[in-house]
Amino acid sequence: MKKMNMQQLLACDKFVVDDEEHHILLNKEICSICQAKPCIYACPAGLYILKDGEINFDDAGCLECGTCRLICPQEGALSWNYPRGNFGVIYRYG
Ligand code: SF4
Ligand code: SF4
Repeated sequence: MKKMNMQQLLACDKFVVDDEEHHILLNKEICSICQAKPCIYACPAGLYILKDGEINFDDAGCLECGTCRLICPQEGALSWNYPRGNFGVIYRYG
């Protein structure tokens, strides 16, 4: 069986993005003082990206695993909620 890369695996799921009420919001001011930025390495969907020294995030593609919420060391940096009804990830396999 051929091993799938991250993009191929994520393409197995469907995401309904809520543009009016994002379920994860970052306080970039707090993120700027976060040294380790573990979210970059821990998010299984690779949604936290460091660009020009600043953290960039888009909740489209979020698997709702809660990892970023658990590992974030800075209080108040993340506002995390499950998406509203009919929005979010739809697992098509497994
Ligand atoms: S771990 Fe938390 S505070 Fe640090 S960059 Fe990521 S979201 Fe921001
Ligand atoms: S909940 Fe999981 S998939 Fe979604 S942004 Fe956080 S770590 Fe990534």
